[in-house]
Amino acid sequence: MKKYQLMAPGPTPVPSEVLLAMAQPMIHHRTPEYEALFVEVRAGLKRLFQTSQDVLPLACSGTGAMEAALVNTLSAGDTVAVVCAGKFGERWLELCRAYGVRAIELRAPFGDTVAPDRVAETLATTPGLAAVLTQHSESSTGVLHDVRAYAALTAKTDAILIVDAVSSLGIADLPMDAWGVDVVVAGSQKGLMLPPGLGLVALSDKAWGRARASTLPKYYFDLAAERTYARKNEAHFTPAVSIMLGLRQVLRLLETEGLAATFKRHDRLARATRAGVEALGLAVFPRATPSPALTAVVSPAGVDSERIVAAYATDHNITIAGGQGEMKGTLFRLGHMGYAAELDVIVALAALEQILAGLGQPVDLGAGVRGAQKVFTDRG
Ligand SMILES: *Cc1c(COP(=O)(O)O)cnc(C)c1O
Repeated sequence: MKKYQLMAPGPTPVPSEVLLAMAQPMIHHRTPEYEALFVEVRAGLKRLFQTSQDVLPLACSGTGAMEAALVNTLSAGDTVAVVCAGKFGERWLELCRAYGVRAIELRAPFGDTVAPDRVAETLATTPGLAAVLTQHSESSTGVLHDVRAYAALTAKTDAILIVDAVSSLGIADLPMDAWGVDVVVAGSQKGLMLPPGLGLVALSDKAWGRARASTLPKYYFDLAAERTYARKNEAHFTPAVSIMLGLRQVLRLLETEGLAATFKRHDRLARATRAGVEALGLAVFPRATPSPALTAVVSPAGVDSERIVAAYATDHNITIAGGQGEMKGTLFRLGHMGYAAELDVIVALAALEQILAGLGQPVDLGAGVRGAQKVFTDRG
């Protein structure tokens, strides 16, 4: 028997309290019980998104919430700019293509970010640009884009800023109202420590203005209709009741920790992971600011990263992730978001040391673990 550990950059482990909260007999969603649940969840989500706007839960994965954001705020023939430096940036491009939205691609090599100057230039040279679309944390490369700077730029124009925060909500600070972000999209199975199946989306007043004029087709994802129901503490269609029960528990856990402490914990886990990996002589992939949600690591020369991913699974019953798209074979990705603690990082690094040794790589056993422990024993 080998204990199973989920250390992928999503889905992520679900705390026992949350599992138990979800293991309840089904209730109907048009009842006072569901209404009471939704009242508490709606208030908690506003604090988590750091917004006074309604945060709308949708029964779908994160990509569904991305689609909802797009079809509700854009119109046929709109031109948008897409920050694209990874697989999730490409997903924005694919969504634009599917709906006939013209996308100016602000590309950067994987592992890099798009400088705010380039966004500024695009805004200045493209009259009528409807929106800038970006990730906050680009999970395919482990990079954190400078959403704060992008928001400062779009705020001065008619363009709205749409942010995929699926792997940053509850992980990295993203004060929606204070930064002037217009649309924030999230999902249940990353920082929110829940099973997959719930998408979340919030719109600023500027984005709701766009929603009124939006002509793209929508039915299930009609956010104006959804908001009308939400304000009565109801869902338009049958909600993901069990995940909502889990979400109430998650919001209580996060409230107890305190948002600032949650962000600090993730920052420490990420710094320790990077220190450990580098102490083993491996390179962390991002050239830009690394995401606190996950660490993308470059596989040692001559070692297919898929062998490292496979060794975690077969030797240790640990799920991590490999590289996606063009990074397949060269990267492996360690998740440390959501229900993650210091000693989880130690486990991931200790396993990595054994795996490298098993692959015949030169490795100083304990060096990676020591590198991380130095970060953890530092004050602050
Ligand atoms: C996980 C993730 C998504 C959503 O993926 P789904 O599989 O649809 O839940 C979107 N964007 C980012 C940055 C992600 O990490």
